[in-house]
Amino acid sequence: MLSAFRYSKVAKNIIRVNSFMGITNEYFYLVLGTHRAALIDSGYGIGDLRKFVSAVTDRPCIVLNTHGHPDHVGGNCLFDEVHLHPDDQGLLELYSAKEVESMVENLLCEKKIWFDHHERLTTDTVMPEIIPLHDGEIFDLGGVTLETIAMPGHSPGSVSFLYKEEKILFSGDNCGPQPLLAIPEQCSNAGRKYSSLPLETFFKSLIRINERKAEIQQIFNCHKSGELPISCFEGVLEAVEGVLLGKYRGVPTSIFQGKVKNVFSARGLDPELVGITEESFCGDVIFAKDNLWE
Ligand SMILES: [Zn+2]
Repeated sequence: MLSAFRYSKVAKNIIRVNSFMGITNEYFYLVLGTHRAALIDSGYGIGDLRKFVSAVTDRPCIVLNTHGHPDHVGGNCLFDEVHLHPDDQGLLELYSAKEVESMVENLLCEKKIWFDHHERLTTDTVMPEIIPLHDGEIFDLGGVTLETIAMPGHSPGSVSFLYKEEKILFSGDNCGPQPLLAIPEQCSNAGRKYSSLPLETFFKSLIRINERKAEIQQIFNCHKSGELPISCFEGVLEAVEGVLLGKYRGVPTSIFQGKVKNVFSARGLDPELVGITEESFCGDVIFAKDNLWE
């Protein structure tokens, strides 16, 4: 059963997990306090994540979602207590179990990975009631304090969680080496062209984190590298500011091709390589020229 997941201890009280196929390198984190645990995101929902958590800890486990994209909320249905920012509630309702299943199968096909159907997706199970998460909300797990920090941008209800004792920021998709700020309308239920918010809004979110930099030593994100140096966060901030000030005109990128046009990378980094090669950790952003300002 444990073989359905790859996992390793990456810091004190933190286990990093991904589903065994690692199809999009979607990571989630199990954080262990003395009286309860928290799962930060739940992946696509491949395999029985609840059994996995029970094998690691007998403490009750809550789910804290960094945002509502399907590669972060798929295992939510296996848990009794799930927290998500209300501004991303709409994203949950947008993807049917069938759509997520075909999304996963397409990814597997692309990567030529054999899919064993007994490790099926869990997204067809009834979702628990979602508890609205708010900026500044504190979760005391016992010796582990997680603070919610709202970071609208990548999605309207994106948040990060700061593990205060260890100075670790769980950034979700808010701060990978190349955050995506041009996610097209198919992911939006608000009738907008993009479900990502304007780059200016994301810049304000980054500034809030920057003001608290002394409280952060490490960043754990949810894709590719999984772990980021603070210098990468600074690089993202510089790239975003550079685009807004006209310093970076951007280089066209193939990401979201066929869905939206005019999508650029600030530094022209190849999305396939970002977060994998050493030089790709300089920090970048994917943005749309018609989604810069509030
Ligand atoms: Zn996302």
